[in-house]
Amino acid sequence: MRFPIKKFLSYYKPYLRLFLSVLFCALITSAIALVYPLLVRYITKDILADEISLDIEKVYWTGALMLVLTGLQNIGNYFVDFKGHEVGARMERDLRSELFAHMQKLSFSFFDREKTGKLMSRVTNDLLLLSELYHHGPEDYIKYLVRFAGAFVILFLINPSLTLAVFCFLPVLGFFSLIFNKVLNRALTKNKERISDIHARVEDSLSGIRVVKSFANENIEIQKFNVENNRFLDSRKNIYRAEAIFFNGVETFIQLITLTVIIYGSSKIVHHTLDLSDLITFLLYVNFMVEPIQRMTHMSTQLQEGLTGFTRFMEIMNTKPAIEDVSHALSLPALEGKIEFKQVGFQYEQDLDPVITDLSLTIQPGEYVALVGPSGAGKTTLCSLIPRFYEVTSGELLIDGIDVRHFEQKELRKHIGTVQQDVYLFDGTVRENIRYGFPVASDAQIIEAARQANAHDFIMSLPNGYDSEIGQRGVRLSGGQKQRLSIARVFLKDPAILILDEATSSLDNESESIVKESLDLLARGRTTIVIAHRLSTIRNAERIIVLNKKGVSEQGTHRSLLAKNGEYSRLYSREFSSKSG
Ligand code: ADP
Repeated sequence: MRFPIKKFLSYYKPYLRLFLSVLFCALITSAIALVYPLLVRYITKDILADEISLDIEKVYWTGALMLVLTGLQNIGNYFVDFKGHEVGARMERDLRSELFAHMQKLSFSFFDREKTGKLMSRVTNDLLLLSELYHHGPEDYIKYLVRFAGAFVILFLINPSLTLAVFCFLPVLGFFSLIFNKVLNRALTKNKERISDIHARVEDSLSGIRVVKSFANENIEIQKFNVENNRFLDSRKNIYRAEAIFFNGVETFIQLITLTVIIYGSSKIVHHTLDLSDLITFLLYVNFMVEPIQRMTHMSTQLQEGLTGFTRFMEIMNTKPAIEDVSHALSLPALEGKIEFKQVGFQYEQDLDPVITDLSLTIQPGEYVALVGPSGAGKTTLCSLIPRFYEVTSGELLIDGIDVRHFEQKELRKHIGTVQQDVYLFDGTVRENIRYGFPVASDAQIIEAARQANAHDFIMSLPNGYDSEIGQRGVRLSGGQKQRLSIARVFLKDPAILILDEATSSLDNESESIVKESLDLLARGRTTIVIAHRLSTIRNAERIIVLNKKGVSEQGTHRSLLAKNGEYSRLYSREFSSKSG
């Protein structure tokens, strides 16, 4: 991919005026910095020429001018520091909002592929590096260019041969910086890897802390952690070694250059081709020439890291949602809830085996059907095709007689409610979590939904009722309670189609019966598909559909399927015998 330079620069646009003023200030402060040694030279020249008839007033005026310049420089530096960083942070904010909004649009298949941790670092770390480049990059280039070129010209005008003597050191210093910055960068990258290894280890061990403790394997975990931690120490040592060589090396160069200026300059004084004030001026300017070389490699790293961050940003921004709405997609004021699969085939990725092949099935509006079958048969997959979380690969899926691909995704999903085994509750209050099902719901509607979900009573017993923050002390909800909140959400959403994905399979008997009661109420009048683990829970379904790798193998009521003595009957007796055994 060619680097999208236009796009990269476009983020400056909203802040162009502010940014240009920052650059202008950087230019002015660098110019002021260049003037100082000249003023010192102006004063010292007079002192050396004739200290008796020295015009002390001139010295005071020059001092006053230097004071004013110092003031201006400080104000300028303040502006560059503050506003420059602000511009960078604003651009970072814009990029981050754009990235987050884009991620929200991407399809399930994208999140199947990408790890959350990696995406997080794209949103945080990568953009931080980019923001540094956006404002520091141009600022630094201007600052160091002005200083270097200015100092070179001034010194050359004062004394060309001494200037060239200083200049001779710079390529060597440049080469040294290049090499050791590379070593340093390698050490820093290694260290970053070690830190992320430590993160991963801590996360792994703490997420599984219950398993660790139940196997009494704390010591094994500590040992594994210490291995990572020691590797971290080694990588840190490498950084310090490289830093020590690099910084001391540069310091040595500065000393060598200073020494050269003093010795070579003194010999020139003896030969009257230079005076003492010129020598002082040279010493004051040495740093102006060394610093840009020293910073050059740092700046190139900054450039590299920033551009890599931008390339990664663009990688995600260029990822199109796998499922896009057609133009003039249909909106859906209401749904009957008829679902038809017509010779549907589906595979997750092109190079993976198909999960569903040639499956045909019709579910009538308001019907209550149960999907059963061995694990991995594709029950969950089949249900995730209905809200278009994934798109059928062949055949078609119709809702109320219309191909789902003609609907706007958001509109379609408004009419489909899902209750899953893993309930995800967001940070926030109980009320906010229920309202998630219908963001404009009134408080009365929320309470009504909670009542229907058998959740009102337990919510009222929480310390702050509906305003209790989930996850805070005293608001540790049990699995059944969480499930009831998620059911209240769906009551509020009031969808025509309901998918219950093993919703009660992880609950204890008592919770299960309360949750089951509210689920039965929720299912009333809606097309409902239940994915069932335990067959005992779906005996009353109007129709049971048995799914295996080849497709629908049988369907009918519990009784008729048992009488058939086929796959369902085998599954059922297996469950029964494992319970009694
Ligand atoms: P069931 O719900 O019947 O247990 P699933 O629909 O979960 O079955 O899975 C059916 C098959 O699809 C399994 O082989 C599973 O490994 C595969 N599968 C499920 N989800 C994904 C996914 N996101 N990406 C790739 N393969 C998947």
